[in-house]
Amino acid sequence: MNAVQTILLGDLSGVQDFLFDVAAEGGGQARRLRARSLFISLVAEVAALRLSEAVGWGRSQLVFSAAGKFLLAGPALPEAARDRARLEAVEISRWLFTETGAALRFALAIHGLVNGQPLPHAYDHAQQALQRAKWRPWSDLLGQDPAWPAAALVLPPISPPCDLCRRRPGRHTERDDDDTERLLCARCHQDGELGRRLPTARWLELHAPPPPDAMDLAGFGLRVTNANRPAPDARFVFALTHQYPVTDGRIVPRRLARHIPRHPDNQPVEFKDLGARATGAPLLGVLKLDADNLGAAFRHAAQGAANLDGVKRLSERLDDFFARQLDDLLARPPWSDLYMVFSGGDDLLLVGPWNVAFDFAGHVQQLFARAFARDGLTLSGGLALVKPTFPIRSGADQADALLEQAKTEPALGATVPKDQMAAFGQVWKWSDHATVVNTARRLAEWVRQDLMPRGWLHTLLDLAEARNRDAAAPVTARLAYHIGRNYPPSHADGARGELRRWANDLLADFDAGQRAETRLLPAILRHALTATRSTSRDEP
Ligand SMILES: [Zn+2]
Repeated sequence: MNAVQTILLGDLSGVQDFLFDVAAEGGGQARRLRARSLFISLVAEVAALRLSEAVGWGRSQLVFSAAGKFLLAGPALPEAARDRARLEAVEISRWLFTETGAALRFALAIHGLVNGQPLPHAYDHAQQALQRAKWRPWSDLLGQDPAWPAAALVLPPISPPCDLCRRRPGRHTERDDDDTERLLCARCHQDGELGRRLPTARWLELHAPPPPDAMDLAGFGLRVTNANRPAPDARFVFALTHQYPVTDGRIVPRRLARHIPRHPDNQPVEFKDLGARATGAPLLGVLKLDADNLGAAFRHAAQGAANLDGVKRLSERLDDFFARQLDDLLARPPWSDLYMVFSGGDDLLLVGPWNVAFDFAGHVQQLFARAFARDGLTLSGGLALVKPTFPIRSGADQADALLEQAKTEPALGATVPKDQMAAFGQVWKWSDHATVVNTARRLAEWVRQDLMPRGWLHTLLDLAEARNRDAAAPVTARLAYHIGRNYPPSHADGARGELRRWANDLLADFDAGQRAETRLLPAILRHALTATRSTSRDEP
């Protein structure tokens, strides 16, 4: 890449809300969510393609495109080219306004480097300009364009509303898997269509001008096909299977397909059935993982450089990690029951049996540390446990809040936040993750072997929580009494003696909390309780 003189940043916001705008009662939630997630990725890709075409740039100017954001960097742009870019942005915004009922918003920032401006500085400037653009959504649709007056910024009346999202007018009558007839908006209807075709599809083709039979996608026509090769007249193509003809320059080298658990007939496994596959309580885990300090790593990669090649390499490695390596892992047990809602850029969101999602978090962190520790990057995560009938959207909001906690609140005994996991009511450093997992498994095993009644876990949890709430609480004597009265002697054979020695060690450290096992006992016990709960009804 030659010296960078212009930076274009594009951003699609409202993604998570729009993604989960798929009501739980709709039937086929897993299939619709899959389609909508792909739709969002495609909109971002199309926006990047339209912008780079508008200013006459090619693929080498694309620094990254992932998770609804893209960055283009290239030579100086004449004012006419900037105007064309702005006009494209208006067109994309206008399309999103009507197509998504103003749920998805597009923002663009164009920053020209002033002479000698260091790249990290220019990148920060572009980011700030993008933030300002995001604070005034739809303003670019107003005023500048006489064909699009302020009065047009009014959505059509929502009557009768779509039976699924209730956000847009119902237009199509559809019969779902459960044989219920529903009135759907254009978007929800297309999700259904796309979701039905995806399981056997090989190519996503973008056509321009849009052929009449294609789905409308921000100025392109989208065709989903399972032919051996993409159609000769397709402008751009995304491969859904992993092999594609490398010589075909129209193919955008991006992994858009994500793993979802399927039945033998290729249809997605619905969330309620995934919950039933969990150990112990039939709960779903909603897991969100996100790289820490990415902005600092990008600035570091751009430090002292004339171009963004370093940033490009780092973001390609990150995207490869999230979009390809992790997704590939899900193809095989023990991870194949996980439903990848999205993964790419620097984060992921997935849903699956709670214990599988939790174990996967630890596995991903180890892989991430191996690949990115030398770049100064760490990972934070949040896992929410929800009933399978609970709307996935609320589960995702909870996982978000937990992720935020991991990124802002230092774990008990730690001084800085980040590089942490939040789950089961506590936050811990990844260096303590194995302790949480191993101790929880050990306790659950003792319960299963009838070495300890499950009720003891509740007793220990009450004491541990009281201790963490108030260091002066007189709970250690109660713990000593509970152990002395109930537990087998420490010289007992095998696991019985092991259990008592574990309890003695806990008691000895209970006041000081020197060991992670003591500090994280509430999370450990909640994990063990969840793993040994046989139905979802015997507890609040
Ligand atoms: Zn709808």
